[in-house]
Amino acid sequence: GRSFRPGGTTVTFPNGVVVGGEEVVVMAGPCSVESREQILTSAKQVAAAGAKFLRGGAFKPRSSPYSFQGMGLDGLKLLREVSEETGLLVITEVMEISQIELMLPYIDCFQVGARNMQNFNLLRELGHVRKPVLMKRGISATIEEVLLSAEYILSGGNYNLMLCERGIRTYETYTRNTMDISAIPVLKKLTHLPVLGDPSHGVGIRDLVPPMALASVAAGADGLLMEMHPNPDKAMSDGAQSLYPEQLQNLMAQLKLLAPVV
Ligand code: PEP
Ligand code: MN
Repeated sequence: GRSFRPGGTTVTFPNGVVVGGEEVVVMAGPCSVESREQILTSAKQVAAAGAKFLRGGAFKPRSSPYSFQGMGLDGLKLLREVSEETGLLVITEVMEISQIELMLPYIDCFQVGARNMQNFNLLRELGHVRKPVLMKRGISATIEEVLLSAEYILSGGNYNLMLCERGIRTYETYTRNTMDISAIPVLKKLTHLPVLGDPSHGVGIRDLVPPMALASVAAGADGLLMEMHPNPDKAMSDGAQSLYPEQLQNLMAQLKLLAPVV
């Protein structure tokens, strides 16, 4: 609860980036790592936009087993390589316990995906590592369930935890999910943890991402996790919701009118 740390928890990364502090931290990149060229180009574009984190999945939780499942270990190696080259931090998804050890040397932050928010054994293990974790809200999770899942990690002793609203499933089908902006101030009120918004999965439609990113920050988000691809029309996953590089650039400028952004 908030009373544990009224001033809020901050999560500090190796290069001095702080999530939960004064600045809104932007994490951007493609849905999936697809090739060396794709992730290097992405990293350069993310860095040029002024964001501090590169995102990109190496292990992908796809609805269909016939869809691209990610590059696995090769993808992790590429993430590390391009992050060294650009100075970006790396956030990528962990899907199961056996991947934790494998990932540690290559990443700066574990992402727990919406589908694994209630994979309690995975959460418990992540409580025993000391690397930061960003845990996304499950696709049909209540706020109470988000808080209880967070406890699985916190109770193991890992306080380097961030929460992320990424849209929930409702009766509305125009957007991919319904971005529950109100979850951001609710979580900020109830917990001491930093709260981020993921408007990409929240809406699933590229042109709706910037307004929902701005709304997230206006609602008090400590950061944003967003998909951007050098060539979204050729993306192997989530192209329709991936920003064009120039959209990310423009959005960063707009965000800075609301809050200090890195
Ligand atoms: C992702 O970030 O690419 C992803 C799979 O997100 P989510 O778990 O929110 O669906
Ligand atoms: Mn995605």
